[in-house]
Amino acid sequence: MGFHTQPIMKLKSLIQTLLISLFLASSTGSFAQRSADIIPFIPFNNESHQNFPLITIKVIAHVVQRNSTYPENFKNNDTDRKIIRDLINHCNRTYSQLTVPSIKIASNPKSIVDSRIRFRLDDIIFHVDSSGWDRNKFMIVNGGKWPYAIDSISKENKELFFFNLNAYRGFNQSDSLIVSTTNGPVVLHKKDLQKSGKTTVVTVKEAIDELEPINATYFRRVDYNCTSDNWKKLTDSDDRHLHLFFTGASSKRIQFGCAPSPYFLNVSNYVYGGQWAGNQLTAHEIGHTLGLGHTNYPQFKDLPRKDKFCSGCPCNDTTISNNIMGYNGCRNYLSPLQIGSMYKNYSTKEKRIRITTACDYDPDQTSFITSSQKWNRERAIQGDLIIKKKQTLEINQNLYLANGASIYLEKKSKLIINNCIVSNACGSEWKGTVLCRKFKRKRIRSPRFNKGTIEFIAEGRFEKVIE
Ligand SMILES: [Zn+2]
Repeated sequence: MGFHTQPIMKLKSLIQTLLISLFLASSTGSFAQRSADIIPFIPFNNESHQNFPLITIKVIAHVVQRNSTYPENFKNNDTDRKIIRDLINHCNRTYSQLTVPSIKIASNPKSIVDSRIRFRLDDIIFHVDSSGWDRNKFMIVNGGKWPYAIDSISKENKELFFFNLNAYRGFNQSDSLIVSTTNGPVVLHKKDLQKSGKTTVVTVKEAIDELEPINATYFRRVDYNCTSDNWKKLTDSDDRHLHLFFTGASSKRIQFGCAPSPYFLNVSNYVYGGQWAGNQLTAHEIGHTLGLGHTNYPQFKDLPRKDKFCSGCPCNDTTISNNIMGYNGCRNYLSPLQIGSMYKNYSTKEKRIRITTACDYDPDQTSFITSSQKWNRERAIQGDLIIKKKQTLEINQNLYLANGASIYLEKKSKLIINNCIVSNACGSEWKGTVLCRKFKRKRIRSPRFNKGTIEFIAEGRFEKVIE
């Protein structure tokens, strides 16, 4: 099943077709179902900004330095602050100047240039915190009484012998290494582990001809790339912004990142990977935080069945896509369903609406209803809603208004709340409806005659409104 970029009428009949085919074949699977749910939220190129306003996500950047002498991260100066601002600008450019897909899909929909999602950098906060900085490190393995004495070695077989049965348990971990001391610490990596009576034998990967061993302490690589500790500790679990953490790692120097939550993402070692790669990585991680998965297996039906992951490789028209959510050297495309799913997340989910500007009332973002219309898609809007004289607005899906926003009904206008809720997603209240002759911000005059009307149908109602 494909879909098109033609105006709303066609789209509606298509949605109906999709829905009907779903009922007929309930085994169609989650792809089709998700497509039908997402299609109304796709901001096709010909859609107006009134109908599909920008969704602006409020970002706070955190630079976590290793220590004040050697930050191993951005410094608190104008140059580095500008790099961070440029990075957010780059993300805005990426999400508003998308290109066409390198791999064409059968029934490929028209590409979307502007996802209508933006990022606003509200603050850059510097922290000095060595454990918050270190997202990938080696730690002594729990259990065991480290260090264990090394009793003998076999240089030929690269074996270390521990006459201690308990050592076996401590060593019995993968992804680990030994730091042994002779004249100084030496890092060795475990290749094999055997138990022979009371003796534990560790075979290592490295040559140990020169080693005069004394004892060994067993370390394990610990990965904090995707953990929430910095978000909890440094922001007190703030769920009103997207927190972008710039961190580092004592165990590796390549750039890496993770975005496990709508509220935070981690970008490690930005300063060691170069600006271009760091910008690409950040745009990709932001895609995750907005709800997108990787493209090696398609999350949506308008993505290639297979997309080979190859870091930094040029994209092509057969095996490696240019999708932002793939691993490729292009990363400048998002599919309509990818974009629609993001737009839907920030139009329907309160916890996501809360991190956008849709919660911050702005009279400059007023929506004017100048012709009668139906709103068949959930939305979150930032300003007042004005229904002009004699016009009807039928709201058929939940509407979220900003804190303190109002709905104005001019003379003879009509508001219909059809089986849905007009509410506030921000933990506050909207201001309610105002009947007026003609909307004027400074002086609202109530009409004596021909008042506007509000009609509630079925379960339609107002919630979280100032009485
Ligand atoms: Zn990823």
